Parts: sequence; C-alpha cells; structure tokens
Amino acid sequence: MAAKTLEDWQKMRDGLSYRNQAFIDGKYVDAVSGKTFENVSPIDGRVLAKVAECDKEDVDLAVKAARRAFEAGTWSEAAPAHRKAVLLKLARLVQENSEELALLEALDMGKPVMMAKNVDMAGVANNFQWYGEAIDKIYDEIAPTGPAGLGLITREPLGVIGAVVPWNFPLMMSAWKLAPMLATGNSVVLKPAEQSPLTGIRLAELAMEAGIPEGVLNVLPGFGETAGQALGMHMDVDAISFTGSTEVGKYFLQYSGKSNMKAIWLECGGKSPNIIMKDAPNLDAAAQAAGMAIFFNSGQVCLASSRLLVEEGIKDEFLEKVKAVGKFMQPGDPLDPKTMMGTMVDKSQTKRVMGYIEAGQKEGAKLVLGGKQVRQNTGGEYIEPTIFDNVKNDMKIAQEEIFGPVLSTLTFKDTEEALKIANDSIYGLYANLWTNDLTKAHKMARKIRAGSVNINNTNGGGLVMPFGGYKQSGIGRDGSLHALDKFTQMKATYIALG
Ligand code: NAD
Repeated sequence: MAAKTLEDWQKMRDGLSYRNQAFIDGKYVDAVSGKTFENVSPIDGRVLAKVAECDKEDVDLAVKAARRAFEAGTWSEAAPAHRKAVLLKLARLVQENSEELALLEALDMGKPVMMAKNVDMAGVANNFQWYGEAIDKIYDEIAPTGPAGLGLITREPLGVIGAVVPWNFPLMMSAWKLAPMLATGNSVVLKPAEQSPLTGIRLAELAMEAGIPEGVLNVLPGFGETAGQALGMHMDVDAISFTGSTEVGKYFLQYSGKSNMKAIWLECGGKSPNIIMKDAPNLDAAAQAAGMAIFFNSGQVCLASSRLLVEEGIKDEFLEKVKAVGKFMQPGDPLDPKTMMGTMVDKSQTKRVMGYIEAGQKEGAKLVLGGKQVRQNTGGEYIEPTIFDNVKNDMKIAQEEIFGPVLSTLTFKDTEEALKIANDSIYGLYANLWTNDLTKAHKMARKIRAGSVNINNTNGGGLVMPFGGYKQSGIGRDGSLHALDKFTQMKATYIALG
C-alpha cells in the first residue's frame, strides 16, 4: 500500500468521528453533571470535539465499577495465560487501528502524524504485547524456612489503580501504565490530560473488543484540579501511577496522606544533561543525536536533553553541527508526512516557552538559533527550534524544565566540572555522555545522579530497561519487569509442617 500523503491524511481527518464521552463499566456515558469542555487542536485552533468533563461523581462511579470488577475476579483471578491472550489481541487491535489513533494524537496535541504512528502507536502496541507475553512466565518464591514449614511469597494485584497521564505522549504514557497494571490483574481508572483525551477514550473500546471485562478499564476525561484530585483523594483507590510535572506529583503525595495512604508512583520532570567530551567517538553522530534529543516532539519530552554540556575547545564546532539539525527540524503541518516537528500542545504552553526564551535573553544567554513563533497565520502553536549559547547553570533556562524546543549550551573544562554541572539540578531523570574512554565512561556514569545514563547514545534501550527518576524526577520505575512490582502486593503465607 502506498504511503499516505498530506491530502490522504486531511481526507481521513475530515471523515473522522470522535469518541467524546467517559467510559465507565463497559459503556460510554456523559459526565454526571452533563458538562463538557472544548477539545482544541493546536494545529489550527479548530474545536475537534466537546468532551465529557468528569468530576468527583464520575470518579466515584468509575472506582465503584472498578472495585466490583476486581472483586468479581473475572480479570483479577483469571489465569495469566488468559490475560496474555487478551493483551496480545489488544496489541493487534492497536496495530490495526494505528493510523486512526495516530491521526487522533496528531490532531489532539500537534505531533507529526508519522511520528505518532511509527513511534507512539508502535510503542503502545509493543507495551501491551511485551507485558502480555511476560505475565505467564513469572514465578513466585518459596522462602528458605527449613523443614518446619513452607513459606510462600506470592504476588497479588493491588486492586483499583488510578493512572493519571500527561499530554506529550498521551496514549504511549497510558500504555506504559495500563499494560503492567492490567497484566497483573488490576482494575484501572485512566485520566488522560485535558489537552489530549481522544486516544485514551478510543482505547477503551479496543480494550473491550480485545476481551477486557466491563469495569476493568475505565477512562475519565476531565481536568486535573477536579477529576485528577478526586481520584487522588478517593478512599477506595489502592494506588496512583502518575506521569506529569513535579509540582503536580507532589500534590499526589499530599492527596495520599490526606486520604487512605494509597501508594503513589511518580514519573515527573527532567532537565537532562547531554555531556560531550572532546574524545567522543563521532561528533557528527553526537550532534545529530543532541539535536533530535531536544527538538523531537517539539521538546515536550520529560527526558529531553535540554542542557548541552560541551568540553571547552570543541564547543563552537559542535554547536554549528547541532544548529544544522535545528535548521532542518523547522516546524510544519503535523499531517504532512515530511514534517519533523509539529506544534506546542496549546496556547498556554506556547506562552510558557516564549516566556523562557525571553528570560534567557534577559539573563544574558546568547540566542544563536530560532526564538520565534512561526506559522501564526495557520492559527496553530508553532515555535522554531531554539538554541542558547553562553548559558550558566544558575540561569532559569538551565534550572527549570521548559518543555519546549529550547536548548541551553554550557561548557566545562574537565570531567569533574562536567559532573558538578550535570548534578546541579533538582531533577535526575536521564543523562547522556559521549566519550571514547571506557574507564571514564563507567566512572562518570556512577557519579551521575540520574535514573538512566546513556553512553554514546540518547535513547536508553527501550522498554526492556527500567525508566524513572532520582531526586525530584520521581519515585518508582516504569518499563521492564520492574514495573510489575509497583502494581502488585507481596503476600507471605507460612504453613507449619512440624
Ligand atoms: P501536569 O502535571 O500538568 O499534568 C499531568 C496530569 O495531571 C494531567 O492528567 C492533569 O490533568 C493532571 N493534573 C494536573 N493538575 C492536577 C491536580 N492539581 N491534581 C490532580 N491531577 C492534576 O503535566 P503536563 O503539563 O500534562 O505534562 C508535562 C509534564 O509531564 C512535564 O513536567 C514532564 O516532564 C512530565 N512528564 C514526565 C514523564 C516521565 O516519565 N518522567 C513523561 C512525560 C511527561
């Protein structure tokens, strides 16, 4: 089949119908209040749909349905092999519907449709497949108690879990959570971000088709301060897995303390250093990766390498190469298959990012690329790839998470200074280091306070590696088999044999 053109995607968009209701207990329903909110596309400002605005009452209904389903045991007590079969079917359904899902994602949050298809939807399907395949291959333990008894250490699902996700990879972040939660037999209430509810709502239908029983997956579109808070405060939710800002992550810790002490797992912000040593094996490859690592998804990526730390002596040469990547990544129509970079998620994100660009200039950093809004005639939210040079690590643009296509460049004179700058951050999510010296690489990796350290790459190895933060970047890990620990409870059963 020939690859889709811009016109093909536009035609598909014009024929789309949008699921816009909440999904509770196996059915699409309006919010109890009847309220809706406008779902605006950042591509051109058009209203895509009026979406159910869920609040406390809806959260309560969804949690009750989730609890009933959990206690009925059709999913929570199903054989792992059954859960595997259902999750594998869901993975297939995501693949079969990946063009529609990618288009919904592109329209909803402005990422290039081809990236939504090849990165996001491929990743979503892979998550359901990977955890589905894993779940019937995991054994429990027997404790070394001696002949007087038999000590069984088993894992049970937690119960009802809330998943609260951001807008930058809406369905992918949902799948990171849903796949291990569902594989381990939990019931789930998913709250997508208000900026990007469409794919989460649509996924519920595919999950039902795959065989997830009624009540096991519920989806509640709505705002953070209302639906999100109600989920965090609910007395019958056993855990929350949250991905989003550090500020809101801290609210969830408070919600837990003020309600039922539910477990809180947090994947929060970052300000990742990308350290380029003079002896990097291939400066062209490092520069290409450095550009992609900040401009991909318009820089709206928690692990974006937003601080470029270059060893003195190679900075000017290296920066020229990164600028070339920025020039190539100019924003375009997300539905055009050639587009490499799309929009900011909404007007307020544009304002926030432009505010940081202004702050960088005021603080004395040197703007060497971009810095402007573009394509404003489209009604969309586009910002050029932007690079600052001469940044000091105490500047706002080096300390705060911008979450836009803005790179801050700093220099260092030796490994000690590189480490000092890299670790001088409240965040500790991700770091990259480029060097040909294996000993130096290992020594530095041990000293970097981040959940992931990549040597001579920026991609972290994918789903097989745990992902999460040190410091204020979060608590707990997504990805890999370690993600399963968060969504299960350990039970110790001791049988006396004497
Ligand atoms: P956000 O924290 O504003 O919102 C995330 C989610 O929390 C949304 O669903 C939102 O509705 C909800 N929320 C907002 N306020 C709330 C409140 N008071 N109570 C309860 N829920 C509330 O984050 P965002 O702007 O959607 O996403 C950007 C942030 O997400 C960045 O900081 C980014 O680094 C982070 N992020 C982290 C990871 C990771 O894995 N570490 C991945 C992607 C994004």
